[in-house]
This record gives sequence, structure tokens and C-alpha cells, in this order.
Amino acid sequence: MTGKIINNYGSLPIVFSQGNGSVLTDISGKKYLDFVSGIGVNCLGHNHPALVAALTEQVAKQIHISNYYNSDVGLAFSNELLKLTSMDRVFFCNSGAEANEAAIKLARKYGHTESQKTGKAEKKTIVTIEKSFHGRTLATLAATAQDKFHPEAFAPYLPGFRTIAANDYDSFETIFDETVCAFMFECVQGEGGVNLLDPKWIQAACKAAKKAGALLIVDEVQTGMGRTGTLLAVETLGITPDVVTLAKGIAGGVPTGACLARGEATPVFIAGDHQSTFGGNPLACAAGMAVLKEMNKPGFLETVTKNGDYIRNKIGEWNLPFITSIRGKGLMIGFDIIGTAGGPATAGHVQRACLETGIGDFTGLCVTTAGPQTVRFLPPLIINREQIDTGLEIMHTVLTNKNPL
Ligand SMILES: *Cc1c(COP(=O)(O)O)cnc(C)c1O
Repeated sequence: MTGKIINNYGSLPIVFSQGNGSVLTDISGKKYLDFVSGIGVNCLGHNHPALVAALTEQVAKQIHISNYYNSDVGLAFSNELLKLTSMDRVFFCNSGAEANEAAIKLARKYGHTESQKTGKAEKKTIVTIEKSFHGRTLATLAATAQDKFHPEAFAPYLPGFRTIAANDYDSFETIFDETVCAFMFECVQGEGGVNLLDPKWIQAACKAAKKAGALLIVDEVQTGMGRTGTLLAVETLGITPDVVTLAKGIAGGVPTGACLARGEATPVFIAGDHQSTFGGNPLACAAGMAVLKEMNKPGFLETVTKNGDYIRNKIGEWNLPFITSIRGKGLMIGFDIIGTAGGPATAGHVQRACLETGIGDFTGLCVTTAGPQTVRFLPPLIINREQIDTGLEIMHTVLTNKNPL
């Protein structure tokens, strides 16, 4: 079923050809409810009329011009994005890993300049949190503090990264020393298991990092663009970031990433320091503009919060003994299953069973995982209650199936 695509994804045996809102249709016409939205990318769902209109209009005008020049839509999108996120400047790229690469380079240069000014030790270390995920390039893998992402096969990894455990107050002094140029973290860890950070701890950690003269880089690649119920997740944490990275939902499905800078992080990059051929092309910016416009509509983000709470409550009401934890914020949701007490063996088993368990018009439900024990939902932010209820009914059927998965 993977055709001739290199087998690095282990794709599931379905071939989709059409999407509509929160529904996907495969090549034989079977319909599936979408609780994945392309891993948190299709925030407006599939074929959203505003996105289609914006893209169609832009395709007819221009798709790409290079960063030798500016485009009207590129300037408009950057202004709007910076206004809504309270940041000063933006570098556009094409993915989350690229956005984080830009942030890492920016932090290294910032640290280098600082250590030259002070004559003190090299300031090049970047601190990240255990179970984080920051991307698949060699630098962002080094930033990703999970052993399973560091097989010997791809070594050597980029040096200069240090890990802190979430909720560890005792190591602030030793971890955040004067060699640290940045502290980089996700407000809700995505691939690492949908883990929320204790606001008190992350505030204290940021304070310790700032005291050491480090920049705060918030990786909002997954949490950003309304996913957790606010445009940025960091808004609710009482932390002022120096750098914010975005991707996934930013342009509703058009490959786009962004590295936003504020305050003293803003002047670090000068002409020639960092570039991307495709970055911020007019097509991506037109899509991003349409996404921002939709998210700005009254009630859009409030509904994300309400629907997220609704889903988590419903799962709780099932009272299934093998669901050991329900977590998340907004429409970024995870729950843990354990492989005993008549429950499913792994989240992967649940994922596959959902694809084959139909209700009414639907052949199945698309869900994703975050590690072997966590089932993860990242539905389109526009999903409606009826679709949520049907999807949850499919999930409940799968989890209470008499035949153990
Ligand atoms: C998905 C993700 C990335 C990597 O994004 P790509 O577009 O796949 O490169 C980085 N950070 C976080 C938090 C992510 O969820």
C-alpha cells in the first residue's frame, strides 16, 4: 500500500482521495471521521471554503518569487501574525524542524555575541525538557530529549544540548549556568505523550534560564495556531518568550513554518545569516492569512476549549479501568491505556481497530498515537459536536470490544 514511497512511515493501509471538513474519503468512496487532521495541520479541516478561495485566488496571481523580493501577501501575513502573537519579527520556512533549526541558530549566535561581549565562557548550550520533541533533522533530534530518537545509526548528533526533567526544581543552578544560550520547550509536549507542564515549574525554570542570560524559545509547532484554545499556548502560562516557532496548523495544510523573534532576539539575524528558498512564498502566506482570519472570528477559539473539555469529560465518563490518564488542552488530547485488565495491548492496536469500526455513514475513525500507550486526538478545530459524538462512539466500541485487541 505504500507504493514506491520509501518505507520510513509504515503507513496504514488506506488511500485517501478527498477531504471535506472533518471527513476523509478513500479511493473506494468509504468515509472516515478525522480525529488527526494531518497531525494537527488541517486546523480548518479539509477543503475549507475560505482556504480554498484564498489559495485559488493566489495561485492565479503568483506562487513563488524568492526572498530577493517581498510579496504583498507576505508582508500582510507577517504583519497580522506578529500583531496577534505580540512578537516583533518573523522568519518564514517550510516545516517545524526548519523553524526550530532557525531558532537554534539564532540562539547560538546570540550566545556567541554575548560571550564575546563579556569575555566569559562560550555560551552555546541549549536546554530542553525530557520527553520533548523538536523535529527530525540532526540538530532538532539533538534537541529532542528522548533516547528512542537517538539511534547509533544516525550518530554523531549535534553537541551542545542539555536535558532537564520536568518538575525538577533542584537542578536549576547546575543546568542553567552561564554557558546556556537558550531554554527551549513545548507548552504541551506532543509526540512525547501529550504531557502538560506544571505552570509553576515552567515559570520557575524560565526565571532560572533568564537569570543565566538565556533566550526562551517556545516550540509551538503543535500547540500553536489555536490548537490548545488560544492562538499560542504560551499566552496562558504567564511567560514572555523571546522566540516562538510555529508550523503544523499555521497555513492550514500548505507546508509552512515560522520562527518569530521578540525584543533582544530580534536583531540577532542579519542579512545572509539564515535563508530558505521556499520560505514565506505567496501561496503559503495567502493560506496563513485565511487561517488567521477564521481563527479571529468570534467564538472560534472558545469553541476549541469547550470541545476539548467535552471530549475529555466524555472519555472520563466511560470509566474504563484500563484508561489510566486523560490529558490535554483544547483539541490536543491524549489518554493512556495499559495492556492489561482486558484492555487493548497498545495505542497502535486501537488506532488500527478504529479504522475498521464503523457507525452509520462512517467506515471508521482516524486517530493517532503518542508513544505505545497513548491514544492521541488532534481533530480539525472546526469539528462539530455531532462528529465528535460519532467519533467517540466508535472509540468506545473499539475499547469495549469483547475480543481483546
Ligand atoms: C511536529 C513537530 C515538530 C516537527 O515539525 P515538522 O514539520 O515535522 O518538521 C517540531 N516540534 C513539535 C513540537 C512538533 O510537534
